Amino acid sequence: MKPVVAFDIGKVLLDFNYGILITKLAPRTQCDEVTLDAYLNQSPLLAEYESGQLTSSEFFTRIQNETKFTGTEFEFAAFFEDIFTPIEEVIEMHRQIVESGLSTYTFSNTNEMAVRHISHSYDFWPRFTGHILSHEVKSLKPNAGIYESLEALSGRIGEAIIYLDDRPENIEAGLARGWRAFCHQDANETQAFLEAQGVLTSSGHDSTA
Ligand SMILES: [Mg+2]
Repeated sequence: MKPVVAFDIGKVLLDFNYGILITKLAPRTQCDEVTLDAYLNQSPLLAEYESGQLTSSEFFTRIQNETKFTGTEFEFAAFFEDIFTPIEEVIEMHRQIVESGLSTYTFSNTNEMAVRHISHSYDFWPRFTGHILSHEVKSLKPNAGIYESLEALSGRIGEAIIYLDDRPENIEAGLARGWRAFCHQDANETQAFLEAQGVLTSSGHDSTA
């Protein structure tokens, strides 16, 4: 049976910078940037949102109440959208894997606002066979539930799943299930890993290959 390839989104397909959001948001709230950053990143709020316990409207209402944000949910969502930058090398590796006929899946701790934006903005999105998203499956990596969802949707287990993520704890959880998991840090290393798994050739870089 052919393997499938799972891609984390943040820091693998798309870089992101919450600092951009904080800088734009803070002047519209009663919080300074340091307080707002801690509130969004270190409080349980984002994890509750990304594990599907809060809808986007509920998430927005909590932020509005707790920071006194003066804008609308639409404005807030627009601030959220500006934080991403594509990681072209990995997007190209994905394109080549899809072209070779393998199924691929996104596998991400994320939220509905981010996905609404990403799914409309990047042409890699519809090239994926399917999407395993924390807020939809109501489980965050590295908890088992989201890994089980990928196994169920793809019909693969163990070494039939090749998986890229930038977070070591997520990779550990994949390796513990027997997946061929690799911690993405550098495009050349990731390319070499995928070539070693037999799902990429080096021809993308070298016309003599
Ligand atoms: Mg990530």
